[in-house]
Amino acid sequence: MCGIVGYAGTKAAAPLLVDGLAKLEYRGYDSAGIAVQEAGGLQVVRRLGKVASLAHSAEHFDLKGTCGIGHTRWATHGRPSETNAHPHVSCDGKIALVHNGIIENFTELREELEAAGHVFASETDTEVVAHLVEEAYDGDLLAAVRQATQRLSGAYGLAVVCADEPGHIVVTRKDSPIIVGHGADGSYVASDAIAVIEATRDVVVLADEQFAVLEPGGITFFDAAGKEIAPEITHI
Ligand code: GLU
Repeated sequence: MCGIVGYAGTKAAAPLLVDGLAKLEYRGYDSAGIAVQEAGGLQVVRRLGKVASLAHSAEHFDLKGTCGIGHTRWATHGRPSETNAHPHVSCDGKIALVHNGIIENFTELREELEAAGHVFASETDTEVVAHLVEEAYDGDLLAAVRQATQRLSGAYGLAVVCADEPGHIVVTRKDSPIIVGHGADGSYVASDAIAVIEATRDVVVLADEQFAVLEPGGITFFDAAGKEIAPEITHI
């Protein structure tokens, strides 16, 4: 398992995401990537190897969006490559997500989704989740992610964005750490407090099967049944 970062706020997301990923480098990884909500849709940049090479490539795209997600990958299913690097996207390119962990039932889910017409771009276990969310999406990303995760066996930390929901990141987890916090310029998510601490020291350590919706103005929390909750804040 490697690292997840995400930001929904008022500043340009790409440099913050790259900076967060650089802080997670100590964990070791084989590839890295980001997805940023741009005016024309989601822009995904992925690279094999160092965060520095991702940062260099991201500069060429001149990303201006203020909401996005990032990932450093430690391959479990599918060799280390640019195509297998996260974020993974839905067929229509409107949903992108990053994942830490292992989806144990991905083979049967992939068969089912391929039979329903979904075309896969990678060899990863993760990509099934992007297609499951696409299948469930009906204008409500949180509801779609909840529906998709009900189909999953295994461990996951997930951060999901949708081109049709600017400024929103939906996150959830099971047996894989997710920490969220709201700072002066927006909301942050990471798999490790080290990537959030500069923005805020008041964080929520998400519990298994809880959901958080990050927006520039704050974070809303939900339990597995979709009921809004007020989780405990931890000062780190
Ligand atoms: N199982 C996923 C993959 O192989 C995620 C690995 C990770 O946690 O970095 O792509």
